[in-house]
Order: sequence, then structure tokens, then C-alpha cells
Amino acid sequence: MKIYNTLSKQIEEFIPHDGNKVKMYTCGPTVYNYAHIGNLRTYIFEDMLEKGLTYLGYDVTRAMNITDVGHLTSDGDTGEDKMAKGAKREGKTVYEIAEFYTDAFLKDMRSLNIKVPSIIEKASDNIDIYIKMIQKMIDEDYAYISNGNVYFDISKAKDYYQLSGKNPDDLKVGVRDTVEEDKAKRNPADFVLWFTLSKFENQVMKWDSPWGVGYPGWHIECSGINYKVFGEYLDIHCGGVDNIFPHHSNEIAQSEAFVGHKWCNYWCHGAYLNDESGKMSKSKGEFLTVSLLEKKGYSPLDYRYFCLNSHYRNPLVFTYESLDGARNAYKKLKSKVLSLSREGDYQEDKAKQYILQFKDAISSDLNTSLMVTTVYDVLKDEELNDATKYALIEDFDKVLSLDLTKEEKKEVDSDLEAMILSKIEERKEAKKNKDFAKADQIRDELLSQGIKLIDTREGTTYEIQ
Ligand code: AMP
Ligand code: ZN
Repeated sequence: MKIYNTLSKQIEEFIPHDGNKVKMYTCGPTVYNYAHIGNLRTYIFEDMLEKGLTYLGYDVTRAMNITDVGHLTSDGDTGEDKMAKGAKREGKTVYEIAEFYTDAFLKDMRSLNIKVPSIIEKASDNIDIYIKMIQKMIDEDYAYISNGNVYFDISKAKDYYQLSGKNPDDLKVGVRDTVEEDKAKRNPADFVLWFTLSKFENQVMKWDSPWGVGYPGWHIECSGINYKVFGEYLDIHCGGVDNIFPHHSNEIAQSEAFVGHKWCNYWCHGAYLNDESGKMSKSKGEFLTVSLLEKKGYSPLDYRYFCLNSHYRNPLVFTYESLDGARNAYKKLKSKVLSLSREGDYQEDKAKQYILQFKDAISSDLNTSLMVTTVYDVLKDEELNDATKYALIEDFDKVLSLDLTKEEKKEVDSDLEAMILSKIEERKEAKKNKDFAKADQIRDELLSQGIKLIDTREGTTYEIQ
């Protein structure tokens, strides 16, 4: 597997710490609102990476956090608490907001065929670990207490700017210009590990700590959860490009201060999905969610197909015209696959060449569009029989997750459904009266309209063919 590493700014051979076992961490959502389809582009990329590695034979364990505390509207530790903002907006408690939007996020993941990571940890469930880590950082002089908060001293970190490639002098100007400066920091780029002097009234989520009642900063949650789940080493860490600085730079600083050595070798970042006006946002313009696309008649997998056709490191502009194009292409592709006959022997030798091509596309810095092209190449190959084509595509779809071999359930409108249910009732009555001829006649009549009745122990259901 070759993958672009943000740390070295190069495409590198991927070598995990322990043979083929891969410890993978992907930053999760802040659950104060629905995810927009830009956020979900990043989760689709991470899903493809996990499944691609698995296809190549790696044994991947993936963990993700759910941010339900500590994330402020500005990444520079200022602004409002995002969760409190969400709670205020909807007149609910922070806990209700967190539960509601976590469920909504998991539902979006399922509808896009994104595998839910096997380990999911809520930020608010791991306070004891953050406290342990922060205490060690204070004891070893990586962190300091000032004006009631605990800060990480970035001058103590090794190569703090390596991941971002930023110039500290430019940043100084940036901090002055864009956000209010926190006078308690020794260096403007220092960041909060623990807030005790809450500047937010009625902060609901707060915990006792050696430094007073308060709550953790946003960045420590990912270092803490990583340490709890994976211990001292991580193989690969992902997120969107906006996570590179400051979030991931801060994670590296904290985790390496705590474990005392290099922690994670590979950092991979997905580029943004933008709308035509620029950056996608939850507050301005149309709030593009999966359910909005569904309301407009698109299936979530039309969007997945749309994403797979571009490389994860290239920014992608969303327009309805390009989504229409993706929907048409996806629909045609799927109907071609479903029309394959499935008869004939599997042509192992010929198939091998396509499996290699597919693996090669994965290994080439996760080239998803080449992976999709392989499917088209298989379909076009006149020397392959239908059964082989079908088997290959079914296999590739373990990674692509486009349901290419799954028959579509036909939509039933409510009038049709009412008619079917009344026929089922009529047939049940006929059977009760031992009028089996009538019961069979009803069944056959429906079948001639493409409606197949299925008798189960719980009663009769139906399937539209
Ligand atoms: P958040 O819920 O804001 O913490 O973001 C969740 C994930 O979405 C993070 O990994 C971000 O890097 C990513 N992200 C945010 N905006 C976009 C976007 N427009 N396109 C792609 N990824 C994004
Ligand atoms: Zn994170």
C-alpha cells in the first residue's frame, strides 16, 4: 500500500508497527448539528481506506471519537461551546442534543454504506484518562497552569509545525488579526488542555479535577481515546484537511509528550467538498445533508458514487448538475451488473488480472476512481463470461459499497399498498373458509401484476418483482 503522508508530504510505503495489524484512528463528529455532505465526504474517504486496507489483507481496527464536549466555535480556544450553542438553538439539554445528533450521524453513515468503526468512544466518557495525561504533562513541564486553565506549552514540543508545514511567524500575525488573544498563554499558539475558569455561563458538562471543576479542551480527547484504545503506538490517523492545524498538530504534541516517543507514522487527510460559493457551511446557504438529497430524489449511494469518482486529495465542488451526472452513470452501471446472467464457470486466470488491477488502484494512494474504472473494464471484457464478471464485481463491491449486486426494492405507493393488504386479508378469509381455489386465484392474480405473496409463520408479506 502506498499512501500520501501529510507528515512527510510524500507518497510512502505503508508499514504498520505490527505485521499486518493496523491501528487506525479517525476523528469523529461534533454532535451539535447534522453532518453536511462535506463532512460525510471525509467519512466516505476513511471508509474506503479501511475497506481498501482490509481488501489488501491487513487486519484493521478502527476507532473514532464522538465530540460531545470541549469543542469551541473557534479552533483557537475561543468562541462559544458548540454543544451549548446547539442546545440553546433547540431549547434542549446538551445531553439530548448529543444523543440526537449522534443517532442522526450513525444513520447517515449506514445510508451511505459506511462501516461504523468497531470502536466508538464519547469524549465525555473518558475524563479520567485526560486528567491522568494532563497531570503527567504538568509534572514534566510540557504544560502549565495560568489564570485557572491548563495550557500546553508548544515551545516544548518537538517539531510542532512539521505536520502543518506552517511558519510560526505567519501564525503570530494570524492570531493577532483573527481571534481575540488569550493573555494567559505564554505563546499565542499554546492551547488549552483543561478549562477551569469557564467563560460560559451554565456550563452543563463539567467535572472535578486537580485544577478545579471544569472540562477538557477539544484536542486532548483524541489523544486520550487513542491511548485508551491503542496504547503507545498508532499506525494511521485520518481526518479532513482542516484537522491538520491545529487539531492534529496538537494531538501529536500531547501524545508524544505523554508517551515519550514518536507516536503515529502516517497522517492522511481528505480534501474539502466545496459548494459553488466556496466553503461548505452549516449556517449559510442551503444546509446540504443526506436527507435533503433524499428529499430531492437522490439516493445516498448516488452521492457515494459521486465522491468515489474523484481522488480524496483533490478538492471537489458540489453542484446538482454533477450529482445528476453521477446518478445517471451509477444507475446505468448498476442495471448492467444486475442484468448479468450469473451462469457459467468462474474463469480464475482471467479474473486474477482484474483483482490485481483493483488492488493496484487501492495501493496507488487509494485511487477510488481507478477502482470504479476496473468495474467498467470488467463489464467491457468480451472474453469474460457473465458469472465471472458478476463474481468479480460482487467482490470489488466489498470495498466500493455501492450495492452493485443488490436488487432494488421497488417503492410502493400507499394506494397500491392498501390494495395489496386488502387482497391479503381477502385471501386469509378464503383460506379460513377452506375456499382454497379462491385463495390461489388471489395469489396468482397478484403475481401476474408482479406482486409475490410470501407466507410466513407471522403472517403473509409481499415482494414487488
Ligand atoms: P466536525 O463535525 O466539524 O468536527 O467535522 C467532521 C469532519 O468533517 C472532520 O474530519 C472535518 O475535517 C471534516 N470536514 C469539515 N468540513 C468539510 C468539508 N467541507 N469537506 C470535507 N470534509 C469536511
Ligand atoms: Zn480528533
